[in-house]
Amino acid sequence: MSNIWDNIAENLKKAFGEAEKRRQSDLIKLASLPHLLSFIKDMGTDDLLLLLDQARKIKKRKNPKFPPINGDMYDTKSLLPPEELAILERVRTFMLNEVEPIATEFWLKGEFPFQILPKFKELGICGLTYEKQYGGQQRSNLLEGLIGEEIARVDVSTCTFFGVHSGLAMNSINYCGSDEQKREFIPKMIKMEKIGAFALTEPDVGSAISMGMTTTCTRDGDTWTINGQKKWIGNATFADYIIVWAKDTDSHQVKGFIVDRETAGLTTEKIEDKMSLRIVQNAIITLKDVKVKEERRLQKADTFKDTARVLKTTRAGVAWQAVGCARGAYEHTLDYTMKRQQFGRPVAGFQITQDLLAQMLSQLTAMQCMVARLSQIDDLGKMVDEQASLAKVFCTVGCRAITSMSRELMGANGILVSNKVARFLGDAEALYSYEGTKQINSLVVGRAITGMSAFT
Ligand SMILES: Cc1cc2nc3c(=O)[nH]c(=O)nc-3n(C[C@H](O)[C@H](O)[C@H](O)COP(=O)(O)OP(=O)(O)OC[C@H]3O[C@@H](n4cnc5c(N)ncnc54)[C@H](O)[C@@H]3O)c2cc1C
Repeated sequence: MSNIWDNIAENLKKAFGEAEKRRQSDLIKLASLPHLLSFIKDMGTDDLLLLLDQARKIKKRKNPKFPPINGDMYDTKSLLPPEELAILERVRTFMLNEVEPIATEFWLKGEFPFQILPKFKELGICGLTYEKQYGGQQRSNLLEGLIGEEIARVDVSTCTFFGVHSGLAMNSINYCGSDEQKREFIPKMIKMEKIGAFALTEPDVGSAISMGMTTTCTRDGDTWTINGQKKWIGNATFADYIIVWAKDTDSHQVKGFIVDRETAGLTTEKIEDKMSLRIVQNAIITLKDVKVKEERRLQKADTFKDTARVLKTTRAGVAWQAVGCARGAYEHTLDYTMKRQQFGRPVAGFQITQDLLAQMLSQLTAMQCMVARLSQIDDLGKMVDEQASLAKVFCTVGCRAITSMSRELMGANGILVSNKVARFLGDAEALYSYEGTKQINSLVVGRAITGMSAFT
């Protein structure tokens, strides 16, 4: 017996030198079974070397060294200056430490995690692009977009909460409010002392809201009376201010109002059975003879065109959210496929898996480059509707495809919400439909490139 081992050890030493002693001992352990010994006994040096080579490959497969996971292959964040990069890093830390550990639990419960708000406020990321005189920081749209990606990468619901407050509600006041209104409301909202919501969609009118709005406002002296219903309104169950859009019974034009949620006649009813963005508190709002002072009417919102101005910027924001959602799904999936073993090796090692992963990453990278350029155009003050709509369509379609491939690559575990990808998969559905469905945003693009409106 000892002769055989001497022989093996001798050959091993020759092949790999003294430095490989650990491997020899591994092999010796493996070969301690009597039948293996009898098999090895008659092997020549070449066969032994072949055997050892195979053993090394198996060992390599079982414990491969995985490269770091990076869903930003073209390094879009490096477009930021160092001080903005530092803000982005703070957001990343907050999301990983405060939101990631509880996101799945709250998503399943359908509740909003109010405990994250104090640290969220400390980030100081609301109204980043606003003028300093209203409490803003005059930062770039690119930074704002990358922050959206970073938040959605961990939890899309948190990003939607943020987008409704800092985008839809605050932008309504920033674009359509008078100077006095901006001074009164924006600083409190930037500090998140007051939270906003945006009420445009109605139970029977979604895409056609510009033409078919049924909520009315009627002026009597310096008081307006609002009647109607709104549906899907994010943050509505707890927001302090709700921006309500209503059609003037006199001019038949759409007007906007900053309404306190506690106003008499305004009630909210939470929508419970969502399969997407379950952390976001969406509600049906009923307005029954709600009285609002003229001073609370957005002074620069005269027609639906002003509402659409708000939507243009937030559509760009939704495109960024879709990038974040897709990135989160891709990164979790890559991690999973490297850890999950089938047929004795990580599933990430199979050709078909790698083809899907490369497909996901190429789509994701195209989306990232598109939104980064969109924000640069926005920073130049040149972004037009069709550019925002094109990105919204491309990124939400891509997000849906990527989250679907993610689920596929995770097999049955992909449908478990605890494995995160199912949450992204569900959330992608809302991104696809809100702030203008895929069809409506495609029609915005179609109108611009053909000169013909095909909405009706
Ligand atoms: C999670 C979530 C959060 C939301 N948050 C808010 C919020 O905070 N505030 C708010 O005001 N709204 C909110 N919305 C509403 C959202 O903006 C609307 O859902 C969206 O505008 C689409 O309207 P709809 O769902 O009524 O679909 P519909 O308009 O009923 O459309 C149904 C289908 O018909 C298609 N369609 C409609 N018209 C055309 C056409 N001309 N040509 C081709 N196809 C067409 C649509 O693309 C869609 O596929 C939210 C929605 C969701 C899901």
